[in-house]
Amino acid sequence: MRVFALMSAPYTIIIGLEVHVQLLTESKMFCGCSTKFGQSPNTQTCPVCIGMPGSLPVMNRRAFELAMKAAVALNCEIPKFTKWDRKNYYYPDLPKGYQISQFDLPMSRDGWLEISNEDSNSSKKRIRILRAHLEEDAGKSMHDEVAGKADSRIDLNRAGTPLLEIVSQPDLRSPAEAKAYLTELKLLLNYLGVSDCNMQEGSLRVDANINLHVDTPKGVVATPIVEVKNMNSFRAVERAMTFEVDRQWREWQETGHRLGDVPKSTRGWDEGSQTTHEQRSKEESSDYRYFPDPDLVPVTVTEAEVEQVRASLGELPAALRVRLEQTYGITPYDSDVLVNQGRALVDYYTELADACGDGKVASNWVQQDVLRWLGERQLGVQQYPVQPNVLAELIGKVRSGAFETSRGREVLGVMVDGGQSLAKAIAALGIQAVDDTALVALCQELLDANPKIVAEVREGKPKGVGALIGQAKKANPNVNANRVRELCLEMIAKIGK
Ligand code: ZN
Ligand code: MN
Repeated sequence: MRVFALMSAPYTIIIGLEVHVQLLTESKMFCGCSTKFGQSPNTQTCPVCIGMPGSLPVMNRRAFELAMKAAVALNCEIPKFTKWDRKNYYYPDLPKGYQISQFDLPMSRDGWLEISNEDSNSSKKRIRILRAHLEEDAGKSMHDEVAGKADSRIDLNRAGTPLLEIVSQPDLRSPAEAKAYLTELKLLLNYLGVSDCNMQEGSLRVDANINLHVDTPKGVVATPIVEVKNMNSFRAVERAMTFEVDRQWREWQETGHRLGDVPKSTRGWDEGSQTTHEQRSKEESSDYRYFPDPDLVPVTVTEAEVEQVRASLGELPAALRVRLEQTYGITPYDSDVLVNQGRALVDYYTELADACGDGKVASNWVQQDVLRWLGERQLGVQQYPVQPNVLAELIGKVRSGAFETSRGREVLGVMVDGGQSLAKAIAALGIQAVDDTALVALCQELLDANPKIVAEVREGKPKGVGALIGQAKKANPNVNANRVRELCLEMIAKIGK
């Protein structure tokens, strides 16, 4: 469907994303203040982060290490030499009058992140990363947050928090692809332990640059680039991009021939009206009067340090998906579901799969039972009451025919909701194996009571056996459906002789 839409629309969507993530450090980028979220305003500040004259910044080593981790995992080059620059602008939440950032010599550049191609589940698409650099966050302006007061307040607790700014090339071709990129990036940073990427708390923020390349008889014409801000969820990013595509296409159709001289602009996403509105025309980087920060020494990075970081990355989502597929024989869809839940769930799954010896069966139980239960309660797998080895034992009983999958689900339900052991849950449900003698007697009763079905089966229409199984289960929920089927068919065949 999307392919058709792309072919019918005479334009290509061009999206590039700038993502700011807060790094998981205890202290700020250039001072020792705590980065803890949610503390009373202006309680986590010092002369350095509130910009007192004469105070001197010192780089947080841990922040640089985390940034390197992310950059290496994003396949970036790590230059041997990197420096700090002042980005000068005035805003009430920036008391220094400049942000310490990196301009022409960022700590990393030229990487890529692979995402699933939305048109085909099996193929991958590489989104190139232009650069990732370190900088400090500004404070927070709170407007009219106290009822009845039309004032603004400044909280500088966040000022100086380490940020990694990850800038993609304009390689994204649809709003859905933008969302897929963000989802994969967040997952990667979570696995690395570099950032918690919590959008509600502002530890991941997205700005999007978007325009259209329109096919015209005179060649391709680009609509002016719009930077969209103020998107508070990945879904909001997708919706804002969809809105901008429509808006820019409408604008181009109305005034296309004049768009050549329109400068870049910044628009804000409004969640209430689900629209973007113009904020200001976009400043150029020269407007910021970048210059090297004279208070900070440049950083040199050795090859050995980069290799050390590379060795510390651990298994990353892309490799993990492949390993799960190869080791446990599950589909790319299933490995994606499991890996996207995070490392703890994957560990639970692999323990279960190893213990029960069947990766596909283990994947079904995790997805249909464990994840559903956790999802309904908004809990993590650490809170799941049944350990993988115990669940494996339960699955083993189902596989050996002690009882069926549906009964196994009931057993698990008693275990997780009633806190029962496996044996007690089985006893509580009155599950006991039905021996063959009892089964034969039951089947004989059913055959005697259903001469019509017996006649049909003898005419070569075995479908009716399903009804017999249903009746058998009603009579005794512990019977094994497969065994009932076998016995019924055997016994009917004997009548024939
Ligand atoms: Zn400070
Ligand atoms: Mn930035």
